[in-house]
Amino acid sequence: MSIYDLTIEELTDYFLKNEDKKYYAIELFAWLYSKEKRITSFDEATNLKKETRERLKKDFSISNIDIVTVESSKDVKKYLFKLNDNEHIEAVLMNHDYGNSLCISSQVGCNMGCKFCESGRRKKVRNLKTSEMVEQILKVESDADLRISHVVIMGIGEPFDNYDNICKFIKIINHPKGLNIGARHITVSTCGLVPKILEFADFPYQVNLAISLHAPNDKIREKLMPISKVYKIEDLMKAIKIYLEKTNRRVTFEYIMLNGINDSADNAKELARLLKGINAYVNLIPYNETEALQFIRSNPLTIAKFYDILKKNNITVTIRREFGGAISAACGQLRSKKEDI
Ligand code: SAH
Repeated sequence: MSIYDLTIEELTDYFLKNEDKKYYAIELFAWLYSKEKRITSFDEATNLKKETRERLKKDFSISNIDIVTVESSKDVKKYLFKLNDNEHIEAVLMNHDYGNSLCISSQVGCNMGCKFCESGRRKKVRNLKTSEMVEQILKVESDADLRISHVVIMGIGEPFDNYDNICKFIKIINHPKGLNIGARHITVSTCGLVPKILEFADFPYQVNLAISLHAPNDKIREKLMPISKVYKIEDLMKAIKIYLEKTNRRVTFEYIMLNGINDSADNAKELARLLKGINAYVNLIPYNETEALQFIRSNPLTIAKFYDILKKNNITVTIRREFGGAISAACGQLRSKKEDI
């Protein structure tokens, strides 16, 4: 097991069980996560007893993922990582005026099968471990020599299909002695796994939730997202209302603009009706075309018109700023394998 799989509470239990000092957990977290330390071997944690360090070496590994390549374009870097079992995943670093944000992957492959998404062309191979998600941040911070202030779980994979590891990941990166990334700076994006949305409503961290909606009704959504055959929009909206009541947090709805499929004025009006009175924020995403998939991005005028209709209907809406298209690092373009499949 990797040491980055453990929350500070789990590490505390570990030390207690081994009759070590409880405060070692805090000290080890500092060695692992504070910017000045970031040890690569337990031997460097010099204020822990020698015996403890030896035991840690036996019980845990430290690094389990490696950077293979980094591709850069303006304000964006795409990282390809190799995992212990030779699988590959990607993460994307974006420099914003408000800080540095990292889009991380949560699975190798993805089972959701959204028709428009490149990542979904490869079936899920496995969930990422908590440590493999934590390490995406650590490796990028040290490679790019900067601090990640924002994390979005929007890379390869469906985070709510890897629910427990995602929750642990959030606990570790949010902890003041961990990476200290504010909960409000962390966003989880889901295609809409209803039972997990309900469970997440009780997760006591103020993280942001984004829902990949992409259609104003089931008929269109079913053509795009197989998951909508399992959870209808009505069930999804019911769950979101419960989530909103419990958390009081605004929910983001992501809506890809696909030419001729979901971008008409009627679609915009229907979407506005669906979201009326809900504490929502709509993020319109100009579709990123990929070679293998047939969808076409809506033209800018259509997007502007769609935007205006939502605005006129008092829906808070933005058009997503585009990042990373030149290096296939944009939404939906990430792959879990280097080679073509
Ligand atoms: N599985 C999660 C998170 C990963 S996808 C989810 O579905 O939310 C992150 C976002 O990118 C989702 O809203 C997804 O629908 C969107 N996306 C996928 N392919 C895209 C593409 N080609 N262009 C633009 N956005 C895309």
